[in-house]
Amino acid sequence: MSSLSRRSLPLLAAAALIVPATLAQAKAPPPVPAVKVPAISVDTLKDVTRVLASDAFEGRGPGTAGEDKTVAEIISRFKAAGLKPGNKGSWTQPVPTVVVEAQNLSPLTVKAGGQVLSFAHGKDYVAGSYRIVPHTAIAEAPLVFVGYGINAPELGWNDYAGLDMKGKIAVILINDPDYAQADEAGLFKGRRMTYYGRWTYKFEEAARQGAAGALIVHDTFPAAYGWQVVQSSWSGKQKYVQSANDGMDQTQANGWIQKPVAEAVFKAAGQDFAALSEAAKHKGFKAVPLGAVASLSFDNAVERATSHNVIGIQPGKTRPNEYVLYTAHWDHLGRCQANAKGDDICNGAMDNATGVAALVALAEANRRAGPAPRSQVFLAVTLEESGLLGSEYYARNPLYPLARTVGGVNMDVVAPGSPSRDVMVTGGDKSDLTRYLQAVAKTMNLTIVGEDHPERGHYYRSDHFSFAKRGVPMFSVGRGTDWVKGGKAAGEAAADAYTNNDYHQPSDEFHEDWDWSGALQETTLLYRLGRSLAETTDWPNWHKTDEFRLIRDRSRAGVK
Ligand SMILES: [Zn+2]
Repeated sequence: MSSLSRRSLPLLAAAALIVPATLAQAKAPPPVPAVKVPAISVDTLKDVTRVLASDAFEGRGPGTAGEDKTVAEIISRFKAAGLKPGNKGSWTQPVPTVVVEAQNLSPLTVKAGGQVLSFAHGKDYVAGSYRIVPHTAIAEAPLVFVGYGINAPELGWNDYAGLDMKGKIAVILINDPDYAQADEAGLFKGRRMTYYGRWTYKFEEAARQGAAGALIVHDTFPAAYGWQVVQSSWSGKQKYVQSANDGMDQTQANGWIQKPVAEAVFKAAGQDFAALSEAAKHKGFKAVPLGAVASLSFDNAVERATSHNVIGIQPGKTRPNEYVLYTAHWDHLGRCQANAKGDDICNGAMDNATGVAALVALAEANRRAGPAPRSQVFLAVTLEESGLLGSEYYARNPLYPLARTVGGVNMDVVAPGSPSRDVMVTGGDKSDLTRYLQAVAKTMNLTIVGEDHPERGHYYRSDHFSFAKRGVPMFSVGRGTDWVKGGKAAGEAAADAYTNNDYHQPSDEFHEDWDWSGALQETTLLYRLGRSLAETTDWPNWHKTDEFRLIRDRSRAGVK
C-alpha cells in the first residue's frame, strides 16, 4: 500500500476540539517529551534503498533467492546500527504460510419459496475456505440476513443478537451502516470506513458467531471497488498465515455474491432486499432468517512455505520491558508481468525499499542518541503484499508482549522528493497519539491533514493495522502533498505519477538523482514520534468510542 496518492483535508481543528474534553475527565497525561534529534543519515536512506531495489534482489519476492539476500542485508544493517538480535539471539522470526487454491467450484445453489436458483462461480459469486482441508462442501445450509454483520459492544450494536449461527450461512452487507453520509459524524463515523466496514471484519465476526459460511453482498459504491476486483483477488492462490488449528475456528466457506444475486434470492424467499438493507442501517435491526437454503462445494489445493520477519532491538535503559515498535515491510512482488521493455523485475524502490531504509536510519539515529528509557523494537516484516501476513504473524506470536507495547510507527513508502508543509494522518483521530503528533507537528511547523478518501479504509490496509486491531496504538502518518518546492501542484503531481505509472510496476526503480530532503524530513518526523513514546511514562490509549479501545483495555487489564 503506498501513501503518496492522497490529497489533503484540514484535520487539526477537529483533533484540538476532542483533546480538552477527555483531559477534563481523566488525570492529565504527562506532557509529550521534547526530544533532541541526532543526525539522521541521508546516505543510509539512499544506500539501503539503492541496494534493496537493485535487480540483484529480484524484487524481494518472499520464499525466493531475493528473500535470502534481503534478510541478510537487513541483518547486517541492523548489526551495524548497534541493535541486538530481537528473537532470543536470532535476527529472524520464521513466518509459516499456507497457500490454498479453490478448484472445481460448483454453482451456488439456493432453494427458496419452492424455487431452485443456480448461480455461476466467477460471474455471480466467488468463494474460498480459510480452513486448510482438501475439500469443502456445504449442503442446504439455512441463509440468514444479518444486515452489516456487526457486533460492536462499545456502540451497543449487535446484528447477531439472539442468533445461533451454527450450520447457517450469514448474508452480510459491505461497509458500515452510515457509509452513505457525506460527513464523518455518527455511530460508525459516517463517510469514514471503520474496521466494522471491512470485508475482513465481516468474515472474522461470522466465524466468531460459529457460522458455517459467510457471503458478503457486493455493491460497488459501499465496497469502493467493482466486481472485477473481487473476482480477480478471490481467484487463484490465496496466501494465509499458518495457524496451529489450520483455520478450523473459521467458517467452512467465505465469499461474495453480486447484488442482483441477493435481490433474486430475497425475492424468491418473499423478502425485499432493498427494504431490509435500509432497515439494517438502523440501531435495533433484527437479523432475518430467509427461509432459504444454499449449497456449494469445491476442492482446495494446499502448499506450505516459510518466509521470515527480521527483528532487532535497542534495549531500554530504565523500563526495558516496555516496548516501542517500528515496522516496515521488506517484501515486494519479485518477478512480475514484464513491461514493454521486457523488464519483469518489480524492484519496489518506493514500495517499500524506502520504508526499510528509514527503519535502518531510525535505528542508527537511536544509537547516536543512546538508549531510551523504554526498549525500541525494529521489525522488518514479510508478506505485506500478500495481505499483511508477516505483521499478522508477529501480532499473533509477539516476541514482546503486545500488552507491554506502548505503541509504534509503520513506514510504507517514505518517498523521495521535496519536504512538505503538511503531515497526513490515515485513519483520523483515533487515539491519544494525536496529542503526540500535534506536539511534533508544532515543533516541525507542519499542518496536520487527513486523507482524502476515508471511505476507502486505508488505515486497515498496511502493517500497523495488524497491531492496531489487537489494541496497540500505531501511527500511520507521512508527508502530505503540500510540498515546499512547488506547492500542492508538485506534491500531487508526484503522487499521481507514482500511482499511475509505477505502483506495483517494474518501473518502481531507484533513481540516483532523487531528492532525499523530503524523506529526511519524514524520517525526522517519525524519529520524533517514536522517540517521544520511548521517553514518556505515558500509555496512550484509543479514544473511548474507538473500535480498538475495548481490546486494549482488556489486554492491559492487570498489567503493571
Ligand atoms: Zn507497501
